[in-house]
Formats: sequence, C-alpha cells, structure tokens
Amino acid sequence: MQHDAIVIGGSYAGLSAAIHVARARRSVCVIDAGSPRNRFANASHGFFGQDGANPQAMIATAREEVARYPTVQMIAGAAIDARAVADGFEVALAGGGKVTAARLVLAFGISDLLPDVPGLSERWGRSVLHCPYCHGFEHGGGRMGVLWVAPMSVHQAALIADWGSTTLYLNGTALPDTAARAMLDRRGVSIEPAPVRALQGGDGSLSSLLLNDGRTAATDALFLAPRSQLNSPIAERLGCALDDGPFGKIVRTDAARLTTVPGVYAAGDIARVPHNASWAAADGVTAGISLHQSLVFEPLAA
Ligand SMILES: Cc1cc2nc3c(=O)[nH]c(=O)nc-3n(C[C@H](O)[C@H](O)[C@H](O)COP(=O)(O)OP(=O)(O)OC[C@H]3O[C@@H](n4cnc5c(N)ncnc54)[C@H](O)[C@@H]3O)c2cc1C
Repeated sequence: MQHDAIVIGGSYAGLSAAIHVARARRSVCVIDAGSPRNRFANASHGFFGQDGANPQAMIATAREEVARYPTVQMIAGAAIDARAVADGFEVALAGGGKVTAARLVLAFGISDLLPDVPGLSERWGRSVLHCPYCHGFEHGGGRMGVLWVAPMSVHQAALIADWGSTTLYLNGTALPDTAARAMLDRRGVSIEPAPVRALQGGDGSLSSLLLNDGRTAATDALFLAPRSQLNSPIAERLGCALDDGPFGKIVRTDAARLTTVPGVYAAGDIARVPHNASWAAADGVTAGISLHQSLVFEPLAA
C-alpha cells in the first residue's frame, strides 16, 4: 500500500507530525525503534500539562492516541534505508519488507556520546544531566558540578550557578582564558583543574567526584553538554544537507521543516539546537501540517 506519509521515529517529534497527517484524513505509517533519547530519566520536566511525567509513559500515551486514527499504521522496529522512487519514497525495514509513501518525515533523534569516566554513564538522566531547565530544579540549591567537554562548558557553568553553588571541573584541560575566568568569577563559579577519576554515590545518585590526585569533591549533580550523533544515516543517504551544530551534525530544514530534498521533512533533535521535548513536538506539528499542505498544493515533480 502506498501511504501519504512515512514517519521514521515515533517519539515527541514523529508522533506530533503523524497525528496532524492522520487528522487531515491522510494515511501515515510510523516506524519506531522504541529508544527515545530521554529513556534514561524517570521524569520529564517542563512539557505543557505533563510536568514530571515518566517519559516512556508520555510517549506510550501519545502512541495510543495516534494509533486510534483509522489511517495510521504503526511498525515497531528500525528503518534501515530510504530512497527516492518514482512516486515518492521507499523505506526498508530492519525486519525485512518495504513501505512506500509520497512524503517522508525524519524524526529519528540523536544519541549522546558520553565521556568515558567511570560511574558517569550509569547516572545519565538521574544525577548526570545535560539541561538545567529539564532537571536543575530538582537539584536546586545543591552542589552543582559542570564537567568540561568543550569551550561552551564555561557558558554552561556560568548559567548553572543560578541553580546552586557551582564548580567547573576542567578534567585536565587547560584553564579558560582571562575573559572566561572573569565571567566565571562574577558568577561565583569555582574552577577545579584536576582530572576526574570516577563518580561516586548510591544507586543513580551522586555524592562526590573522585579526582585523580585522590581528593573527593562533594557534588549532588553533574552537568555536561556532550557531543551527539544522528541515530540513522538515512538523511545523508537521501541527500539531505547537514550542518555542523555545537554538539554534532544537524539536518538542515527551512521554517516549514522541509529538508533540502523535496518531499522530505525533518523534526526534533535531529534538526535543531537547542533540544527539548516541547520544541521537538512543536517541530513535529510544523512538519506534519506542512507535509499535508504540500500534498494538496505541491505535487512532487515526476
Ligand atoms: C537524559 C535526558 C533527559 C531529558 N529530559 C528532558 C526533560 O525533562 N524535558 C524535556 O523537555 N526534554 C528532555 N530531554 C530532551 C528530550 O529527550 C529530547 O529533546 C526529545 O526526546 C527529542 O524528541 P525526538 O522526537 O526528536 O527524538 P527522540 O525522543 O530521541 O525519539 C527518536 C525516536 O526515533 C527512534 N529511531 C531511531 N532510529 C530509528 C530508525 N532508524 N528507525 C525507526 N525509528 C528510529 C528512536 O528509537 C526513538 O524512539 C532529555 C534528554 C536526555 C538525554
């Protein structure tokens, strides 16, 4: 069956796109591998009407809502390839088989590339965090650390000082320049140059950082802004232009969330910075409505 749209990735962005296509009484196939970026966190914060909800439960509810529409097909699993064909696009599935549609939405998200510090990855989303707006309040007033991973860590440390007493852990990299040090000083941020050997604390929580010289630094939450990578090479395979973002590659889109390839839309973390679930959902809405209107007003050239 030829669908009007295929959405690759069924989370905040993809399901928000799909529901608008379905509500326009068009057929849409959602392919989802089931690993949203925030799956490591027990609670998602700041989403309209859902502050503190469990991320997996939020997505499951949205999936059920979308699946209720009669023109929706849901496929659990990964899309492994996509290519342009005569009347649209063909997507190959990991489980075998292919689906075709007139339009595509790419919403397959990104993965965080965490630094290799013992004890860090198992605390990701619990006490090791990327975004103070998402999880800073819950640690507010505590002892905050920022782990240097890039020059923008200085900016992150200056910001996070609003949530608690903050130390920038340089983890063995050179001291920031004079202007950056002055800015950190104005914000009351301490600087710790020593490499970090390990993170310590109970199940998911953090109590201290063990430094290479044997000292420990009491810390309640550690923030970092890691590099990231797109979860799938499908955007590149289709010929979509990518840009260099501050954390990794981003799929280039216009205000309608159309990529540089006619008929291919992209939404959510793969196509923007900064990232959060609300922005991803909003981009999905834009992509879904733009896609529907393109079906009406802009048939693709044969
Ligand atoms: C630890 C952590 C905590 C966070 N907490 C918050 C918070 O409290 N509040 C907030 O607003 N934001 C939070 N975020 C940010 C939020 O998770 C992202 O902005 C949001 O998930 C992006 O939505 P998305 O739909 O673009 O991508 P994702 O939610 O990552 O979804 C992408 C989906 O595509 C699927 N997929 C990947 N590849 C394929 C493929 N080839 N075929 C089919 N499907 C595929 C994935 O399995 C996944 O289901 C947090 C992020 C992290 C890392």
